[in-house]
Amino acid sequence: MKVVICGAGIAGLAAAGRFAARGDDVVVLERAPGPRPQGYMIDFFGPGHRAAALTGLLPAVRERGYRVSEAAYLDAAGRRRAGLPFAKFAAAQGAELVSIMRPDLEAVLAEHLPDRVDVRYGSAVSAVEDGDDGARVVLGDGTAVEADLVVGADGIHSAARRRIVGPDRGLVRHLGFHTAAFTVDDPGIHAAVRDRFCMTDTVDRMVGMYGLRDGRVAVFTVHRSTDPTPPADPRAAVRAEYGSLGWVVPRVLELCPPAPRMYYDTVAQVVAPHWRGRRVVLVGDAAHAVSLLAGQGASLAVAGALVLADRLDAAGTVAAGLADYEARWRPVVTEVQADARRGMRWFLPRTPGRLRLRRLALRLAVLPAVNRLVAGAVAGSPVDLDAVLADRTAMAAPART
Ligand SMILES: Cc1cc2nc3c(=O)[nH]c(=O)nc-3n(C[C@H](O)[C@H](O)[C@H](O)COP(=O)(O)OP(=O)(O)OC[C@H]3O[C@@H](n4cnc5c(N)ncnc54)[C@H](O)[C@@H]3O)c2cc1C
Repeated sequence: MKVVICGAGIAGLAAAGRFAARGDDVVVLERAPGPRPQGYMIDFFGPGHRAAALTGLLPAVRERGYRVSEAAYLDAAGRRRAGLPFAKFAAAQGAELVSIMRPDLEAVLAEHLPDRVDVRYGSAVSAVEDGDDGARVVLGDGTAVEADLVVGADGIHSAARRRIVGPDRGLVRHLGFHTAAFTVDDPGIHAAVRDRFCMTDTVDRMVGMYGLRDGRVAVFTVHRSTDPTPPADPRAAVRAEYGSLGWVVPRVLELCPPAPRMYYDTVAQVVAPHWRGRRVVLVGDAAHAVSLLAGQGASLAVAGALVLADRLDAAGTVAAGLADYEARWRPVVTEVQADARRGMRWFLPRTPGRLRLRRLALRLAVLPAVNRLVAGAVAGSPVDLDAVLADRTAMAAPART
């Protein structure tokens, strides 16, 4: 089968690996001119971690990844107010957790692709056409690529999704936050952060930092905003929003780079009524962005690609395989999305009172039962990927076009 994948992000590269392993001819079309060097730290656990173990990627993920000692909340003077060891958090999720920069995870996925996978950078998809026996991807330069199956892995504003579901309006749901991510190179900030995931213990906004082994610090910011549109000048917006915070934040803001070296977006989830047409199917954020609040988007992208390829293998026809994928994977991501929405008030407390409650909960997390509750509030309920992959008969809804 010829499979054309739109997008060489985490979902697209993971899908390319699984389809190549099935023996399919795989073409990946990516609009960026090359692998994206900018990124942020991803806490990789749960179903994606399990999928990486099942597909032989885990040793490379561990090698490129980081062992973060703890998630710590610090006040304006840099004093630790509360924290949770990462190992405890992972144990409550029933597995290991590896932190890895997004470009490094993409590099691991790309390096494990066989040479015959054709990854074409600088290829922007402008339209996708779906048919009974095949599909077609039209590129920005007007050329087209034919396929037996098109996989839309082109992220939250997916062009493939527009074809099989409809315009973004109503599907992409703004959660009321903006986020930015960038790296800074400063020995003082690195020495303060060390091997921890440090977050400011602040109301309505937060700056999070991870120390990298090359001396840089990976920074991300999140603040509440009802505006669903990113600002014209992201760097100016970040400097204005976080200008009142203390500790190392003033120095971080001094060093923060302009776009495109800074990532900036609104925080949203994608809730699409269906993920498949006849010969087009969606994976990763294109199908079901869960948002950074869930801390599992990359994990679900890797695991979802495995479920898709696995179900196509098990089914007699493409239609049955796509239907089984959606029937099994949708309940999992729906639950993760709901957990993320429920956890919003703890992720970014609205009042000093809630901030104090969060500190108290983290202090009590030395108790195993409380630790499970806290880990559940942060990362949601654990997902059992093996149960999803188990060969049971799923009730598959009919495909829509
Ligand atoms: C600050 C931050 C922190 C996060 N932390 C975590 C975490 O701790 N753990 C976790 O699991 N997840 C985390 N996530 C979420 C995770 O990064 C995403 O869910 C994941 O990257 C989605 O991967 P994707 O491949 O589906 O989409 P994307 O990463 O958006 O990739 C889509 C790709 O498609 C390409 N593309 C788009 N349109 C076109 C087109 N028309 N033609 C061709 N190519 C196109 C894009 O250039 C891109 O390469 C975080 C996200 C953010 C923003």
